[in-house]
Amino acid sequence: MSEKPYKISGWYDVYKSIRKPMPRPGYVEEDKRPSAPPIEEEDASIEDLKIEANIVCEGKGHELGEWADAKRGRQNVSTSTCKKCNKSITVIENPLGNETDMMGEALTQNCL
Ligand SMILES: [Zn+2]
Repeated sequence: MSEKPYKISGWYDVYKSIRKPMPRPGYVEEDKRPSAPPIEEEDASIEDLKIEANIVCEGKGHELGEWADAKRGRQNVSTSTCKKCNKSITVIENPLGNETDMMGEALTQNCL
């Protein structure tokens, strides 16, 4: 039996080598990497949202006035307007799937 000189020419030779074997062509190996735990995002309270909204709006040059709290069903909502440009912002506790917890012109547009 003659030993051929070792030559990496295809997947089979690689499989016989000391290197980690590659999956066969056309075969998808199961991903054995550990998966990260699901991200659990806590719902922010209405007061936290107001603080966050103030920071964001301040960055856009707005100066928010008093917050007006209201109830919308079981949700707490609060609205404020800018003292300078009158653009409004609304924060919603536990927003529905198609909503964000912050909405309004003051959030997306810069102050005058
Ligand atoms: Zn403004």
